[in-house]
Amino acid sequence: MGPVKASPQTQLRLLELADLDAELGRLDHRRRGLPEVTELSRLEVRAGELKDALVATETELSDLTREQSRAERDVDQVRTRIERDRARLDAGQVSAARELASLQSEIENLHRRQGDLEEVVLELMERRETLDSQQDELTTERDNLGGQMAEVAARRDAAFAEIDEQTAKASDQRASVAAEVPADLLALYDQIRKAKGVGAAMLRAGRCEGCHLSLNAADLNVIRASAPDEVVRCEECRRILVRTPESGL
Ligand SMILES: [Zn+2]
Repeated sequence: MGPVKASPQTQLRLLELADLDAELGRLDHRRRGLPEVTELSRLEVRAGELKDALVATETELSDLTREQSRAERDVDQVRTRIERDRARLDAGQVSAARELASLQSEIENLHRRQGDLEEVVLELMERRETLDSQQDELTTERDNLGGQMAEVAARRDAAFAEIDEQTAKASDQRASVAAEVPADLLALYDQIRKAKGVGAAMLRAGRCEGCHLSLNAADLNVIRASAPDEVVRCEECRRILVRTPESGL
């Protein structure tokens, strides 16, 4: 491929392209780094934790319900046996001293057992209270989080829509500018842009605006001597250097 040539007018188009490419780059960077996206994934993690915690609490609560009814059934059974034993005593059905003593001691044991069981029932009720309020807290947080997530998602979508609109506009502009640049120059520009991010830069006051270095006198002389339709490159960064009246030549 021989040296690329283009009219100064066409070369100026490259600066427009570079501006549009920079704009597209900024938009892409903004889209990727949108704080709403990070915030939303943080909230999603928390929502997952809350869901797990709620499932665990619900499981514990249903276990507790089973334990509670078992304990209540046990208390009832003991109570019934005490009543039956008492009835036997009151009816005077037991007269032998040894049998009487054994019945009385059974009643005493049953009372102790009843006391123990009632304590268990109480403990279970306390645990239920704790779990109930835990469940309420988790549910409230989950509901708040749902609202928060919807709000952040709406902000994110609005930002995406705005960025996409600006991107579409810049892409259209870029396409129409690129259409006015000959294929060989455009290929060179794109090749440099892919390697360095910026394909063309203005030579302003003897300085390359791509790498921000001032050209030495010898390089400036070479550029001065180049025909206006010659496409020149920065010796430092190899970007296309576009000459304008501000180039200081
Ligand atoms: Zn340079």
